[in-house]
Amino acid sequence: MTCRELTSFIADYLAGELQADTRVAFERHLSRCPNCVQYVADYRRAVDLGQRVYAHDEEPVTDVPDDLVAAILAARGGKFAPD
Ligand SMILES: [Zn+2]
Repeated sequence: MTCRELTSFIADYLAGELQADTRVAFERHLSRCPNCVQYVADYRRAVDLGQRVYAHDEEPVTDVPDDLVAAILAARGGKFAPD
């Protein structure tokens, strides 16, 4: 799995929805790629932040729009650049 592939699986990974073999490949990549470990941590924080932004609404938030996550990551000055 490449860094770019990992970023495309991250939402499903955090949701616990990856196929077993994909999850193994994902975690194997994480075990040797500090950049992606950092990216997963930032992504998790961005989703958490996004959920708090949406918490003003009455509706429980189960899914934060990808655009919002990307915007938060960009605002954080993420140094992550796949490939
Ligand atoms: Zn990586």
